[in-house]
Amino acid sequence: MIMKKNAAAHGESPEVEGQDNLESMLKSMRAGPSVGTPVAGQRCGLIAIVGKPNVGKSTLLNALVGQKISITSRKAQTTRHRITGMHTQGANQFVFVDTPGFQTRHNNALNRSLNKTVLGAVGDVDLILFVVEAGMFNQADAKVLALLSKEIPTLLVANKLDQITRRADIAPWLQEMQQRRAFSEFVPMSAKNIKDIERLLGICEKYLPVQAWWYAQDELTDRSEKFLASETVREKLFRLTGDELPYTSTVVIDKFDEEVGRGKQKRLLKIAATIVVERDTHKAMVIGDKGERIKRIGTETRVELEKLLDAKVFVELWVKVRSGWADDEARVRSFGYQ
Ligand code: GDP
Ligand code: MG
Repeated sequence: MIMKKNAAAHGESPEVEGQDNLESMLKSMRAGPSVGTPVAGQRCGLIAIVGKPNVGKSTLLNALVGQKISITSRKAQTTRHRITGMHTQGANQFVFVDTPGFQTRHNNALNRSLNKTVLGAVGDVDLILFVVEAGMFNQADAKVLALLSKEIPTLLVANKLDQITRRADIAPWLQEMQQRRAFSEFVPMSAKNIKDIERLLGICEKYLPVQAWWYAQDELTDRSEKFLASETVREKLFRLTGDELPYTSTVVIDKFDEEVGRGKQKRLLKIAATIVVERDTHKAMVIGDKGERIKRIGTETRVELEKLLDAKVFVELWVKVRSGWADDEARVRSFGYQ
């Protein structure tokens, strides 16, 4: 379990990429609710974040949780697993579920598995955040919307509002959207704007049922450190290979050893990971000229994990070619996708 880290003790704070104002939110979160909040007043609800790839779902989850737990990139299809992130504030516990964007383009084993994950996440939740890019709605958005139960309250999150130069265009677009579905509310916003994130939390609060919390007050995600390590390698891989590398590459953690720190020393994590690609040419791309690129992937992974996991981290990376893995059901399962 990843807990809210005691950043104050180390004089540093976790960062969410592109979130300059996050510090103030983190501060208010660290202050947190007082210990021993009576169960009687507690509210807790499950909120699914859904939408086509690249609309900003993972960015939104990280901002809502207040720490990076889901990887993001300009490349579509970055998120492959269901990730739960918690935010507990006052009497309220928000349990957010980030999903991979619904895949419609290729019908291979990997995409079928991703779609199952999406459908599983939206079946039984208290609220759905249907995320689109403000001012946009195309076939891919429509396909995702069609999957969502009309019985569950759904907010239309019109994200990336900062990219809209003519705000006046948004009103007629919202009216159009209302005709597609009776959304509970419209939230035009930017996942990179802390004020918008706070406003969204305030709106979500109304939909939390009265019930005891499911997680401890300081838990941030149900995902393991090992999982976050593999996701971080994958994010750096995607970011540093740009559009050259097909999204079918994956990361397997071969070693995740922990040594406890003595005295004031931080604990030590020794991580070895293999990047699995489909072709020799992809392997060459990952390694880069004289190994430059893989070295950078390793360094950036280490720096980020040291912050995120509050530890000293060693990262060792390998690259392996396994052609056709995304088409092979058994292999997809063996890499951890159901
Ligand atoms: P996902 O596939 O829906 O999870 O999308 P990501 O969270 O990975 O984000 C996709 C891209 O959109 C990334 O490059 C983000 O930095 C960017 N992004 C997300 N939210 C916003 C926003 O509010 N404004 C802008 N300008 N970019 C955003
Ligand atoms: Mg994502």
